Amino acid sequence: MIEGLRHILYPEVCVACRALLRTGEQLVCGSCLDGFSPYPGTAAGGDALKRVVRDHFGQEDVPAGAWCLYPYRGSGRLHDAMHSLKYEGIFPLGRLFGRKLGELVASSGPTGFDGIVPVPLHRLKLVERTYNQAGKIAEGVAEVLGIPLLPKVIVRRRYTDTQTGLTSSARRLNLHGAFGPGSQPCPPRVLVVDDVVTTGATMTAAAGVLRGCGASLVSFAAVALTEKI
Ligand SMILES: [Zn+2]
Repeated sequence: MIEGLRHILYPEVCVACRALLRTGEQLVCGSCLDGFSPYPGTAAGGDALKRVVRDHFGQEDVPAGAWCLYPYRGSGRLHDAMHSLKYEGIFPLGRLFGRKLGELVASSGPTGFDGIVPVPLHRLKLVERTYNQAGKIAEGVAEVLGIPLLPKVIVRRRYTDTQTGLTSSARRLNLHGAFGPGSQPCPPRVLVVDDVVTTGATMTAAAGVLRGCGASLVSFAAVALTEKI
C-alpha cells in the first residue's frame, strides 16, 4: 500500500535527468550520482567550506569542523536535483543527500557531536514550502551518525529576502538578527546542517546564536558549496 502510494507520488524516474530508474536506484540514477562529482577524499569539501568562511568573515568564524559533498555550479544535474529538493516537493531527496553527508562525516572518525541542528526556515516559509529541506538533510545525517536531531534549538525570526546576488557583507547584514534561540536547550557540541552554502553567511549567523545559547563547539556540514565563478 505504502509502496503503491510511493509509485504514484514519485514516478520511478531520476529527479535530475528524468531517465527511468533501475532496480535498487532511488530518486537519483547512478549516472547522475556519479555526475555530481563529489570532492575528492574526506577533507577537500570541508576545507573548501572553511576557506569560504575565512575569506568572507575571517578566521574567528571558521567552524571547528566542516564537511561538504559537492562543488555546486549554477546549472547541471546537481542543480536540478537541489532544485527538486527545495522547490518541487521531492523531500525524500533530502534524506538521501543527508545520509551521504552523514557517511562523509562518519568517515572522519568519531565526531563527539551532541546534536544535529538544521538551519531553520521561517515559519511562514515553512507553511509555503511545507517542509524544511535542510531539516530533511539533517534527518539523514542524524540517522547515519546516530546523534539526536535538534530542529528547535534555534528559530528563524525574520523572513529574510533571498540572498542571491548579495555580497558577503550585504548577506551578513541581511541575516543580522535573523536567528534566535528556540525552545530546545543547546548542547555543547553541535553540527549545523544546510543544503547549499555560498558565502557561509547563513551558517555563520546560525553558529553565532548557537554559541550564545551555550554551544562551545560548532561545526558545519553542507551538501554543496557554490564554486567561485
Ligand atoms: Zn539521472
